[in-house]
Amino acid sequence: MRVVDLLDQVRDRWAERVAHRLARGEKVRESFQDQLVRYFDLMRQAITSGDPGWLNEILDEWLEARTQTDQEDQETSLSPILGHILLSLSSVTRELLNSDDALELISAVLPVHNHALQYSSTKEAETYVRHIANDLEEARATLERLDKSKSDFISVAAHELRTPLTLIEGYSSMLQDIYPEDEDARQRVEIMLKGVDNGITRLREIIDDMIDVSLIDNNMLKLNYQPVWLNQLIGIVEQEIRVITEGRSIQLCIEEFPGYKEMIFADSERLYQAIWNILTNAVKYTPDEGKITVSGRTLPGFVEMTVTDTGIGIDPDDQARIFEKFGHLGDISLHSSSKTKFKGGGPGLGLPITKGIIEAHGGTIWVESDGYSEESCPGSTFHVLLPQRKESPDDQVNTIFSPIDDDLDYDEIKETIAKETSWQKK
Ligand code: ADP
Repeated sequence: MRVVDLLDQVRDRWAERVAHRLARGEKVRESFQDQLVRYFDLMRQAITSGDPGWLNEILDEWLEARTQTDQEDQETSLSPILGHILLSLSSVTRELLNSDDALELISAVLPVHNHALQYSSTKEAETYVRHIANDLEEARATLERLDKSKSDFISVAAHELRTPLTLIEGYSSMLQDIYPEDEDARQRVEIMLKGVDNGITRLREIIDDMIDVSLIDNNMLKLNYQPVWLNQLIGIVEQEIRVITEGRSIQLCIEEFPGYKEMIFADSERLYQAIWNILTNAVKYTPDEGKITVSGRTLPGFVEMTVTDTGIGIDPDDQARIFEKFGHLGDISLHSSSKTKFKGGGPGLGLPITKGIIEAHGGTIWVESDGYSEESCPGSTFHVLLPQRKESPDDQVNTIFSPIDDDLDYDEIKETIAKETSWQKK
């Protein structure tokens, strides 16, 4: 065949030329020169058989060798080498062949060359995607390990702190029985013991929160389903925080909403804890003379409770983060641990626990806010969506995280609610 003869004529000079170009003038390894000759022979085979796939094997070897070097290096791509191969072939053919023969040879080589380019770039893209996927998987595994050690730490710390706290509680209550004779001294001791008592209560609350978070993290939160009326739970929390809201001139407005007085099956203590967290947060992040409104409605199969405040609001970028453990925002050095003081942040476990409780019931929680501003106070609305269970889910009595319907698309429900809410605002 004519093309085969033409190829044979240019083969040796071509191999030298490519090697020289690739080595940028330096001496090239003999093994590499052999590789180039092998490439040329396979190219010849591909042209004569009409099957460019003959080149795949050597391309795979080159790609493999290149990916074992630094992935970040752009030079890992085979295209520059294939470019040199073609350029060298065209210059050598011009030197050694007349123009008709050169044209014939190049026309025969081009489809094979195109195949080589396409094949190697597809393979490179696949390798790159695999490489990125591996990196992502590694990063995900590292994050998971970090999160696991964080929750292990919380669990160990909570249990370790509980024992000395019980000791302090015991000694403090024994001290209460010892009354100094002197009235003045007695009063001072009483004030001090009250202080110790407050400290113990706060510490116990923090430890309980830490234990709750680790229970939720480890899917061990147990729900005790029983008949619950939302209005009763809201009423209890309202009574407890009324004195605080009045002290800070915050208007607390509890609206009667559909589903508010209806019985549902839920864990009343846990639900109370969730409502308490949301309402005390609303108090904490609303300046004096603000307003907090509790409202809601029913949706097919669900009751929705909303808590809207006229507080400092939450930046949209932070709205998912606040439901993560230790997801409190702002400067930790300015942290003032208070349950009710304006901006008095806690350890940042309240909302993750609340979310864990609501989700354990098969519900969901999210927040809407136009943004964060202590000046304009755009406010926030927390939405809690709870299944309207009319009977105790027998198989869920001692288990958790068993949403009543796995197929529920909460995002769709949230979207519908968001649309309707923005319509109502207008
Ligand atoms: P914390 O113990 O810090 O209050 P939470 O888990 O209860 O922790 O809340 C996490 C963070 O979410 C808070 O630090 C606060 O930045 C933000 N947040 C919660 N509720 C509100 C609200 N009603 N308005 C504005 N920010 C809020």
